[in-house]
Amino acid sequence: MSETGGPEEQVDLGTDRAHGARIYDYILGGKDHYELDRAAAEATLQVWPSLRIHMNANRSFMHRVARHLAAEKGIRQFLDIGTGIPTSPNFHEVVQAIAPDSRVVYVDNDPIVLAHARALLTSTPEGRTTYIQADMREPEKIISAPELLGTLDLTRPIGLTLIAMVHFIEDDDEAYRVVRRIVDVLPSGSYFAAAVATDDFDPEVLARVQEVYHSHGESLRWRTKAQAEKFFDGLELEEPGIVQIHKWHPDPVEVGRVDDRDIAMYGAIARKP
Ligand code: SAH
Repeated sequence: MSETGGPEEQVDLGTDRAHGARIYDYILGGKDHYELDRAAAEATLQVWPSLRIHMNANRSFMHRVARHLAAEKGIRQFLDIGTGIPTSPNFHEVVQAIAPDSRVVYVDNDPIVLAHARALLTSTPEGRTTYIQADMREPEKIISAPELLGTLDLTRPIGLTLIAMVHFIEDDDEAYRVVRRIVDVLPSGSYFAAAVATDDFDPEVLARVQEVYHSHGESLRWRTKAQAEKFFDGLELEEPGIVQIHKWHPDPVEVGRVDDRDIAMYGAIARKP
């Protein structure tokens, strides 16, 4: 399955339960998923056929955020936590197409992402990408990692992106605390972008989606708009504030094509003063 060889043979991929990274890969049409991931994805589609629309909208949001930070905000160094299985174009491909000297530090805790990390390390010669295998719930490990310290200049603005990731941390206190810990080390003028899962637009159906995830061994925590907003405490939200991801600086061709009930994700970008 892997073209990278190496790490995959050495790590336990945890195929005894479904993993969010692999459910996402399955729905996006990738090839890195196992039986329980496909079972969880298919069971979710049964109760919520919009899953595919939702996940594709998320990937599109990630691309727009990357472009926005690079092109509109002039950010040249990025920390992307909860990177996911590489699917071209990956984050660095988007920002390096705008500014080839961009640097990207990727972080994920899923061994399947590590197994495919080589696809994330295809930087332009002018820029740089690196990968850290770490869990967001241990932020100290991320912010002290030599790969991070050797790649990012912590005195210059950084774009921190947590796209479709915090819903895997179910405990609210822990989720806010670990995000805060990372935001704290960013210098003034940095940006924080996130996509936060919500059941605000179809609560009954999405309660069943959560049950499916839990019954397949994966975590999933929906959050209200107010709970999503808390991740941005102390930061200055940029226009248009916290909105469903398909409404955040939408591509003109996509406007009006998606029903709000199909999208279970808020998105926003904020600036650190
Ligand atoms: N950001 C990508 C991928 C989203 S899928 C995109 O939007 O397209 C979410 C990713 O977060 C998965 O790869 C999963 O392994 C990772 N993840 C979940 N919990 C994590 C944690 N505690 N620490 C680091 N990564 C985590």
